[in-house]
Amino acid sequence: MTRRFEGEKLVLASHNAGKLEEIRLLLAPFPLAVISAKELGLPVPEETESTFAGNARLKALAAAKATGLPALADDSGLEVEALRGAPGVLTADWAETPDGRDFVMAMTKVWERLETMKAAFPRRAKFCSTLALAWPDEHVEVFTGQVAGQIVWPMRGEVGHGYDPIFRPEGYNQTFGEMDPAQKNAISHRAVAFKKLVDGCFK
Ligand code: IMP
Repeated sequence: MTRRFEGEKLVLASHNAGKLEEIRLLLAPFPLAVISAKELGLPVPEETESTFAGNARLKALAAAKATGLPALADDSGLEVEALRGAPGVLTADWAETPDGRDFVMAMTKVWERLETMKAAFPRRAKFCSTLALAWPDEHVEVFTGQVAGQIVWPMRGEVGHGYDPIFRPEGYNQTFGEMDPAQKNAISHRAVAFKKLVDGCFK
């Protein structure tokens, strides 16, 4: 049976500003004190697993054990069909440079690879999110969400984060980078996983 969340405090096991903002918005309706791993000065655990679920569990467990509080982590990424699911779990890695993350470079890499292989249109892709809620006794609940769409070029929009400017969700004209954050939060991969989390653990 799914374990219910009973506490008043939740640690968000992330240092990613874009994700933190979205998860805080999703958690806003709940009477919870939410504090991030970043605010607590927790170390960033190395993502050594080869799946979203493995890395989400690892991040949530590290924060729950370090704080003695339940912790929520998201591991997510972009899977491009013609690239056989890449960048996938390496989505953040494609943006790494010696001076920090460069998402313009990462998005350009996605588009250039599709161009080089003359991939057919539409260039289908999906964003995937796995949420893991871990307790200090090492119990973990895991929920997944996806949103389908296509990769577009040039990049469009300033409001999102990460790869948002090249992802247009199915049924919409705007990219996630152009979309109002509330609208993105109603349909995103993270929102889909979050709804399952709420149904399983918060109701
Ligand atoms: P990780 O979960 O820390 O491994 O990183 C996930 C990567 O996917 C980050 O580089 C994010 O920028 C990217 N990503 C995940 N969700 C989104 C999203 O909603 N929009 C744009 N990029 C995302």
